[in-house]
Amino acid sequence: MISGIWNRLCGSATVAFHLRGQRDVPYWARPRVEALRDHRVRRTVAYAARNVPYYREWFSSQKADPRDIRSAADLKHLPVLDRELVRSQPRLFLAETSQARGGLSFLTSGSTGVPLEIFHDRRSLLANIAFGERERDPVNRACGKFRPKELYVGYESSTFKKVIAFYQESVLLPVRPQRRFVSLQEPIENVAALNNTERPDVLVGYGGWLDLFFRTVAARGIEIHRPKMVMYMGEALPHGGRAFIEQNFGIPVLSRYNAVESFKIGFFCEHRTGFHLHEDLCHVRIVSPDGMDAFPGGQGEVVLSNLVNRATVLLNYPLGDMASLSTEGCACGRTFRLLSELEGRVEDIVALPGGRSVHPRTIWEVLKADPDLLQYQLIQHETLRFELRLSTADEPAYQRVRGRALPRLQGILGPGAVIESKYEGGIAPRPAGKFRAVQSRIGLRAENSGT
Ligand SMILES: [Zn+2]
Repeated sequence: MISGIWNRLCGSATVAFHLRGQRDVPYWARPRVEALRDHRVRRTVAYAARNVPYYREWFSSQKADPRDIRSAADLKHLPVLDRELVRSQPRLFLAETSQARGGLSFLTSGSTGVPLEIFHDRRSLLANIAFGERERDPVNRACGKFRPKELYVGYESSTFKKVIAFYQESVLLPVRPQRRFVSLQEPIENVAALNNTERPDVLVGYGGWLDLFFRTVAARGIEIHRPKMVMYMGEALPHGGRAFIEQNFGIPVLSRYNAVESFKIGFFCEHRTGFHLHEDLCHVRIVSPDGMDAFPGGQGEVVLSNLVNRATVLLNYPLGDMASLSTEGCACGRTFRLLSELEGRVEDIVALPGGRSVHPRTIWEVLKADPDLLQYQLIQHETLRFELRLSTADEPAYQRVRGRALPRLQGILGPGAVIESKYEGGIAPRPAGKFRAVQSRIGLRAENSGT
């Protein structure tokens, strides 16, 4: 019991230590941000070279000196990691230190079907509470209060539960937000009713779910209490989703970018110009298909280096998201660099015979203007076998959408493609996990059969 309290006192002290001035960090002058970032790059690289098997081996085989990595810009001299290697041999990336041994293990939600195990050391997990101040600041401002009331629509993933349990046993401070949790499996009508009785300041959920929620509410004329803000995370908002919610409901839509591999990556400010990157906690590069850094403003894959975790150490790790870095600053005064909204996952691109490929945006272009369509999902089961799931307010609407969409999709996917369509209704419960409007399951099948 005493050790439990002692543990929580120590935990609280760690949080309090990191809490100081966190809200100001995103506003620091650039040289100060860069100095802290580069300091953490040097420390992380030195730690990795000394304690992490993969990096120890790499520096030794390359006869490279970790001290030559002086700044974030030098990280490009280290290899870009192979996600498959990290997944199949997680121990290669786990530090052989006491810090790492006491760490907590997390599994990614498995959007690619096969989970990946990542360890976080306890100290960085506690510091994470304090870093959250940066993200809470714009929300508190917009809501005009210190602890806004949240209605959180999601599923209690193992990560979510584990983090909450860890904080409860490690910290004395009442850091818990005012949060009402509701399952993603609840019909939309029920969530709308709960929203009306709870009257939250912020409605939080997955991008795909929020998009479907507001489109269904609009299509069915359901009266809802309007929260001061909508916050999506975990997956991209379907194209056009932000404009739909902001224009039809007058509610600003913000987002946060986080991943099991790096809990704090970026956050929207009140201007909603993109994600302000936590540059001192993780370094983000945008890498084009040729492996080089994309030109400023150019699109590419998000490649991340976590600068705070001392358990699983990942430098130059491709997250599987596409985005671009903005070349402009933000009117809010924060100096953290801006990342564009995510352009869907890389593996969402549909590969067709003959080396042809179709981007999710092409599919969206076909379907976006359909007045009867609430949401869609196109799944590629085999190279030429597709399933088109259509959410509409009712069955006649489904028939109309189907009649318009199928011929056009056939044109895009080619005459050999077999497209099977399915009526999803507006309130079909969704399986837990990330929603992707276009999903290819071909790569998964190959990966699964190999293990
Ligand atoms: Zn801003």
